[in-house]
Amino acid sequence: MRIVVLTGGIGGARFLLGVRAYAREVGAEVTAVVNVGDDLRLHGLRICPDLDSVLYTLGGGADPERGWGRVDESWTVKEELAAYGAEPSWFGLGDRDIATHLVRTTMLDAGYPLHQVTEALATRWQPGVRLLPATDDRLETHAVVSGAPGATSATGGPSDGGQRAIHFQEWWVRYRAEIPTHRFVFVGAETAKPAPGVTEAIAGADVVLVAPSNPVVSIAPILAVPGLREAVTDGPAPVVGVSPIIGGAPVRGMADRCLAVVGVDCTAAGVGGLYGSRATGGLLDGWLVAEEDAGTLVPDVTVRAVPLRMTDEAATAAMVRAAVELT
Ligand code: GDP
Ligand code: CA
Repeated sequence: MRIVVLTGGIGGARFLLGVRAYAREVGAEVTAVVNVGDDLRLHGLRICPDLDSVLYTLGGGADPERGWGRVDESWTVKEELAAYGAEPSWFGLGDRDIATHLVRTTMLDAGYPLHQVTEALATRWQPGVRLLPATDDRLETHAVVSGAPGATSATGGPSDGGQRAIHFQEWWVRYRAEIPTHRFVFVGAETAKPAPGVTEAIAGADVVLVAPSNPVVSIAPILAVPGLREAVTDGPAPVVGVSPIIGGAPVRGMADRCLAVVGVDCTAAGVGGLYGSRATGGLLDGWLVAEEDAGTLVPDVTVRAVPLRMTDEAATAAMVRAAVELT
C-alpha cells in the first residue's frame, strides 16, 4: 500500500509518527507532501519551519515540550544577535537548529532544489517516510493586515487604506495573530510547480490523507500549487481528512484565528465544509472527527467519529488506521 499525507509542521509531524507506525505494521510506503508557505529567510538563512518540524520529530531530534526546534537546544547565537541589535529579534533560532539552516542554505545557494536539499538533510534524520516539499519554488504565505506598527512590509510598503502584507511568521510569531487581518495571500503560488515526485506520488497512492494540520495556513498553501489540488481531486486514490478541531477548538495553536480570517466556523463541520466533498468539486471522500464531534455532517462526505487526540504513537496509529479504513 502507498500512502500520501498532506501535512504542515507540528500537528502534521505528530500525525506522521502514527502514519509511520501504521505503515510499518501493514508494510506500506509513505510520502509526506509538506507545506513550504511558512518558509522565510532570516539572517541570510533559509528556514523551513514545517519541513524541519517533520524531520526533527520523525528523526527523534525535536523538543517535545516546546513542540518546535531541537531538543537540548542552546541559544548563544540568538543572544549574540540580540547584542548587535540585529532584527528581527522575534524569531528564535537555536544553535543546533542554525546548523540545519546553514547546510540547507549552502546547498540552495549552490543550486540544489529544495527537494534534493530535503533528501540530503533526511539522510541524517532517517525519518522513515519520504519527505517532499510541496514545491521547490518560492511560495510564501502572507497576511494582509492593518494596524501593525513596526511591521516589516513583505511586499514593499502599505497599500490601500493602510493595509499591508506581512510574512505569515511575523503575523503568527510576532503579533500572535492578534491584529486586524483581512486575508491570506500565497505569494508566488501562480507560478509555482509541484516539486518533482509530488504529483507522481499522488497518482500512485492508494490513499491520500490530509493531516490534522492547520487548514488555512498549512494545507491551503500546499493545494495552492497549480496542479497539486487537481492531482489529488482528480486522482485515483480516496482522500480522507483528519480534523484538527476538537469540540470547537484547535487542540494546540491558533487555527481558530486563521479560520476566523477566512470566515469559517472553528468546528469539525466548518473545516470539513471548507475542504468540501470530492464529489462536488472539493477535496474529501472521508472526514475523521473526534468522538466529541460525533454527529458532524459534511454533505457528500463520509464522516466517522473516533478518538482524535495524538497522545502517543499507538493512539495516533489507531487514528490512521481508522482514516485508511474509512475509504
Ligand atoms: P504547524 O505548521 O506547526 O502550525 O502545525 P500543523 O499545521 O501541522 O498542525 C497544527 C494543528 O494541529 C492545530 O490546528 C492543532 O489543532 C492540531 N493538533 C495538534 N495536536 C492535535 C491532536 O492531538 N489531535 C488533533 N486532531 N489535532 C491536533
Ligand atoms: Ca507551519
